[in-house]
Order: sequence, then C-alpha cells, then structure tokens
Amino acid sequence: MARDYYGTLGVRQDASAEDIKRAYRKLARELHPDVNPDEAAQARFREVTAAYEVLSDPQKRKIVDMGGDPLGNAGGGGGGRDPFGGFGLGDIMDAFFGAAAGGGGRGPRSRVQPGSDALLRIQMTLEECATGVSRDIAVETAILCDVCRGNGCAAGTSPITCDTCGGRGEVQSVQRSFLGQVVTARACAVCRGLGEVIPDPCHQCAGEGRVRARRTITAKIPPGVADGMRVRLSGQGEVGAGGGPAGDLYVEVEELQHATFEREGADLHCTLRIPMTTAALGAVVPLETLDGTVELELEPGTQPETQLVMSGRGLPRLRSTGRVDGRGDLHVHVEVEVPTRLDARQTELLRELATLRGEEEHTLASANGRAGGLFSRLRSRHTR
Ligand SMILES: [Zn+2]
Ligand SMILES: [Zn+2]
Repeated sequence: MARDYYGTLGVRQDASAEDIKRAYRKLARELHPDVNPDEAAQARFREVTAAYEVLSDPQKRKIVDMGGDPLGNAGGGGGGRDPFGGFGLGDIMDAFFGAAAGGGGRGPRSRVQPGSDALLRIQMTLEECATGVSRDIAVETAILCDVCRGNGCAAGTSPITCDTCGGRGEVQSVQRSFLGQVVTARACAVCRGLGEVIPDPCHQCAGEGRVRARRTITAKIPPGVADGMRVRLSGQGEVGAGGGPAGDLYVEVEELQHATFEREGADLHCTLRIPMTTAALGAVVPLETLDGTVELELEPGTQPETQLVMSGRGLPRLRSTGRVDGRGDLHVHVEVEVPTRLDARQTELLRELATLRGEEEHTLASANGRAGGLFSRLRSRHTR
C-alpha cells in the first residue's frame, strides 16, 4: 500500500523540488536525534527522511505520482529493490549527519581537556637498581598558564558564545550526493567545536590555558627495578588544554650492563676464575658483591663449573604490589684455569705429582669412564 510521502513532508503534490527541499530541512532540524532524542520524534525523522529520499528523486517521485510506492514491495512493480542500495539505516544516518550522529550526546566540546601522559627513560646502573634512586630529571612539558590559571582569557574578560554556530559547536551544510540532499554536521571552524570563543586571549598562552616549559621533576625509583620497568608519577605529565588535569609521567628504566654481574630477575650471576692449584687445595678468596667484598670459602678439590650460591646477595625482589620481598641470590660460577705455560721446574713438579697419584696413563680411561661422558659435558657447557 502506497504511503503518503507528500503528507509526511507536509507539501502539496505539485510542490517544486525547492519546496520539498525546504520542507525537509525544516523538519529535519526539529526532528534530528541530537535535537530531539524522543523515540517518537526519531521514528518520525526516519519517515521524513525516507519521504524526502523518494520525492527528491524525479524517477521515484514519478512512481509515487502514478500511485506506486518505490520503497514498498507492493509498489511500482520494482520487485522489492532496496531503495537504500544495501545501506542500513545507521549508514544512512551517518551519511546524512556525519559519523558522530551515532555517538549521541553531542554538543560543544569542552574547552578543558585532560592532559596527555608522557614517557621518559632514565639510565640506571645495577647498583642503582639495587638501592633505588631519587633523581631530578629536567622535562619539556606543558604546565598551567600562571597568568590566566587555565581559562585562556585576558584579565577581566571571559569567553563568549560563538556567533557562527550559536554555541552548538557544529555547523550543518547541505550537499547533493547520490542519496539526494545530504546534511552534514562539521565542527565549527571558528570556535573549533567549542561553542564559545575567547575575544581577548591571555597574552601568555594565546588562549590555550597552558604553556610549554622546562620543569625539573624528582623521580623516586624504588629498589629492585629492572630494565624496561616503568614507574608512574601520577599527575606529573602534561597539563591539558584549557588547564585540564595533568596526565601521568612514566619513567622507564634502562638498565646499564654491569662489568661483573649478569642479572636474572632478582638473582645475579658472576664468574670466578681460580688457578688449578687453588681448586685442588681450597682457599678463602675475596669476592665482589653488591654489598662490598666478602670472603668466599672454596673447598679443597673444587671442581670446574662448580656453582656456589650466596643466598640473599642478589637484588631486592620487587613484587607487582610495589613491595620488596627479600633478596635474590648470587650464583658464583667457578672456572678453573689450567696453566698453559709451564717452565722446566713447574713441569717437573707436575710430572712428579702425576707419578705420585698414578695419573700418567689414566687420563683417557678416566674421561671415557666418567658418568655422562665427555660429550654431554661439552654440550651442557654450550647451553649454559
Ligand atoms: Zn594564559
Ligand atoms: Zn562556533
């Protein structure tokens, strides 16, 4: 059954194209979902839009005038072609009113915006990661304008409503397109969508409410941090437009390689090279740790690749809660150095030792007979 498109737009059947356009624009202005969120108004808006879509197209209008309905299955003999060419209603609304139409709750954008977060990196030595540091960092950032305190206006003045958009923050324009008349809403260029303008901007910030400045921030980095960790300094980022609340500043740790220690979480690893004789005889040797030099006791007969664990000599264990929970360990990897250049006397002494121990012809047999064998020992050394 044919719908009354003329009646929907409130125009006579002999209305000109211009009359139809004017009628639609007038109705769209009162029924637009942004102006009138009422459900009935929205249903009516869809009807009005459909009527306009039909009557602004001379071909479709002809079908209507012949008593058919170009949008209905029964009308016009058109075999139920979708008049919107595959667009859903949402697409049509977007095409008519800009993508923001679906968002709801539009209106002028606030002048005051939250500030952005900022990120900076600091280099820390392993010792600093162990103890934590408090460091002054100079940052280039946006701070609140101290002349206008963020409102962007010269002393004694205030913002006024934008004439161009009447305070709505957006302007509508009508264009022809394949859909017929398309009404698009854009942010008002004069007020940049704010709905108000500052007639007399603050001379220091030019109305921005914030200025760029170099500022020194004291960053407190807790003990136990590691490479890549970020410490958040709340409210130390950039002040927002219009003096909006500052974002956060993230300080990312870049840990410098240590000459002696290799880090694995809260544990540390180091290599201790000892002469063959020390390994055989045992000794108390000085060992560098994060807490200074300590004495490490090596048993007589210490084997190559022995790993000694010094409990609690690693880094503070920093939990995700920010709490420190004890300390890691220091793993000492013992390497035994076999002398390469022996003088005549040393050679003689070692030969004598070998003879005393009956080791002269024992070497090969011992290697083959060893649990695990030579091959697996070599492999484990490579995968370490
Ligand atoms: Zn200012
Ligand atoms: Zn404006």
